[in-house]
Amino acid sequence: MPELAFLGAAGTVTGSRYPVTSQEKGRDDERALVDCGMYQGLKELRQRNWEPLPFDASDLPFVVLTHAHIDHSGMLPRLARQGFKGAVVSTPATHELAKLLLVDAARLQEEDAAFLNRKGLTKHRPALPLFDAGDAEAILQRFTVRPYGEWTELPDRIAFRFHNAGHLLGSAMVEMRVRENGGATTVLFSGDLGRFGMPLNPDPASPPEADYMVLESTYGDRAHCGDSLYDQLERIVKETLARRGILVVPSFAVGRAQQIIYVLNVLMEKQRLPLLPIHLDSPMAVEATRIYARHPKEQESRGELTARNVICHRTVEESKALNGLEGPGIIISSSGMLAGGRILHHLKRLLPDERHTVALAGYQAAGTRGRALQEGAGTIRIHGEEVPVRARLADLCGFSGHADAGEILRWLARKERPPRTIFLTHGEPEAATALAERIRKDKGWTVRVPRLGEQAVL
Ligand SMILES: [Zn+2]
Repeated sequence: MPELAFLGAAGTVTGSRYPVTSQEKGRDDERALVDCGMYQGLKELRQRNWEPLPFDASDLPFVVLTHAHIDHSGMLPRLARQGFKGAVVSTPATHELAKLLLVDAARLQEEDAAFLNRKGLTKHRPALPLFDAGDAEAILQRFTVRPYGEWTELPDRIAFRFHNAGHLLGSAMVEMRVRENGGATTVLFSGDLGRFGMPLNPDPASPPEADYMVLESTYGDRAHCGDSLYDQLERIVKETLARRGILVVPSFAVGRAQQIIYVLNVLMEKQRLPLLPIHLDSPMAVEATRIYARHPKEQESRGELTARNVICHRTVEESKALNGLEGPGIIISSSGMLAGGRILHHLKRLLPDERHTVALAGYQAAGTRGRALQEGAGTIRIHGEEVPVRARLADLCGFSGHADAGEILRWLARKERPPRTIFLTHGEPEAATALAERIRKDKGWTVRVPRLGEQAVL
């Protein structure tokens, strides 16, 4: 019988890792690990990244990667550091985005370790990174890419194929089939499930029939705001233009920044907004936009991302040139929660002037400058200075990349026969429990919320 284990994203939203092992009498085991994500957020969670895997990395032949986000891919370089010699299988776009994100993650690991050592803030001497740039390079060499829809047969009993999850460029759900003792068992891993009718991202593909399902539940107890992103951005840009101000949008570099460019350029094409330059000020967002542009078939974009009004600012000099921008204008820069990066320079200059607008797109974690702005702080601290907040603030709602409870149910409704069991993962306990209840009540299906480390025999 195949065995499925929940080694991460159980009771929390990060650290996705699900090994599937096929055991048959008289034959060697065959194993594939679905995702190898990093724990993020609270220290207690991040410390789990240091715990050893319950199997030998050098014995693991395959990792199947649903998408490039660090909470799904971030421990791959650590796997390389521990002797992994197998293959990582992903879609082509996921490989390209993983290059960008894993190299950046390695740089952050090295910087954090150097900072702790410099300040003497570590119990471990010297503090080490989880992995370094060499490990990221090593794992990137081990990628094999496969398009959506084509089966990949592992040497013995496991086969799988990707379906578009509509969550991020390249994102996939994984349909896996394990052939044992003359029978076959199928498991569908939803990965991070996208939404219906979102700009740029396609709708998630219908779920293929499967005996078991591992389903995400990030927003299992919530409904996203239903306001049109087009209407919201049109209004905010028009109000800012009327004051001859600058709209600055702090944004995650991969995914969110491209959606914002797309919405703005669709509004300009439809003449709902005048044609304006959009300044993209983040080397990572510039590179991610190029990757998006190389995969036009996987999204709705027909050139909106590379239109001539999208002005890329890669170098520090190009970024500094924006200090002379008087307005009206639009700047998209990272980081999304204002934790660091180039956005801070823009905010220092623009926040004290009431002509300008800062539009927050997405969740702002407790303790971040983004949250302070949302809560109406009169000043925020940037580079040791208290900067007065006089610019307008706007909260763009509904930019989430994850299906909410209603959308998950809508997606499940496309299944003809119920899976034997749905395992709900990738959610805080309240969200997972609420979604479990709702699926049981609406559909009468069997739903379980596995604990961390739990194993299920399928
Ligand atoms: Zn994701």
